Amino acid sequence: MIPAAFDYVAPSTVDEAVRALADAGEDAKVLGGGQSLLPVLRMRLAAPTVVIDLGKIAELRGVREDGDALVIGAMTTHYDVQRDPLVQTHAALLAAATDTVADPQIRHRGTFGGALAHADPAGDLLAPALALDAEMVLAGPAGRRTVAAADFFVDLFTTALAADEILVEVRVPKYTGWGAHYEKFNRVAQAWSIVAVAAAVRVVDGTFAQARVGLTNMAATPIRATAVEQALIGQPATADSVRAAAAHAAEGTSPSGDANSDAEFRRHLATVLTSRAVLAAAS
Ligand SMILES: Cc1cc2nc3c(=O)[nH]c(=O)nc-3n(C[C@H](O)[C@H](O)[C@H](O)COP(=O)(O)OP(=O)(O)OC[C@H]3O[C@@H](n4cnc5c(N)ncnc54)[C@H](O)[C@@H]3O)c2cc1C
Repeated sequence: MIPAAFDYVAPSTVDEAVRALADAGEDAKVLGGGQSLLPVLRMRLAAPTVVIDLGKIAELRGVREDGDALVIGAMTTHYDVQRDPLVQTHAALLAAATDTVADPQIRHRGTFGGALAHADPAGDLLAPALALDAEMVLAGPAGRRTVAAADFFVDLFTTALAADEILVEVRVPKYTGWGAHYEKFNRVAQAWSIVAVAAAVRVVDGTFAQARVGLTNMAATPIRATAVEQALIGQPATADSVRAAAAHAAEGTSPSGDANSDAEFRRHLATVLTSRAVLAAAS
């Protein structure tokens, strides 16, 4: 189908984009890489009167260091995030998860900020952002504010972004030297996650010193497997202790059922995939 008619604006700075959004009111939509928004427009599930394309705003692209954090521009494509040496060194979990997103074409167009703002519970970048305690920097008419990932994902396809705000960058603390792995379960290559597990661990002298585990598609929002994290700390990095900790993975989750899987199978998957993700991260 062809989208309903809309006005198109392509500002070249964040300030211009924020002004354009404020001028357009609630009928406007921000365009990132368009990989989720364009299908929505074509199916006429949304019919904005104005589309504000962030594609010409150079300051929204790229990865830089800022002390103990990496700062990733919202318009940085999945392809550029995945191959960035800073991300690979200091946030290996994010690089690993990004590598599993869709196919190369979509990774060249889709953006980190767009994926987080879209907040699809099956999206692969939400759980890593949550597990790594990322912070979202939002720009609106009143200036900028920072929202922790734990407060950013509010509900199904719903974030803390107000209608007049733009996600400008994501701050990710450095996890230099941590082991990381993203274990994704889907039926066919390049499909969305039925369930996936994001794990980052720091092993010292064969023992888990720190652990962060996030779950994809086990609730309306990404969630931390805190019971698993607590059970791992102080335990030897062996298959037996990882399996015992991973048995807690479904605690506090509320997965839905759909054509791919019922809720019970998702709970089972969470324990199996957590075991695999943590073991791979530890090795
Ligand atoms: C066939 C297919 C398969 C896919 N498979 C996967 C997969 O396996 N795993 C996965 O994680 N994802 C998958 N995706 C989604 C892909 O990762 C998208 O790139 C992503 O969801 C949206 O990013 P985008 O930059 O294209 O955003 P857009 O489509 O441009 O925007 C998405 C939404 O976010 C808003 N938005 C975008 N940028 C901003 C911003 N900076 N500030 C505020 N709001 C903003 C838009 O207004 C819109 O509501 C798939 C997509 C397709 C089409």
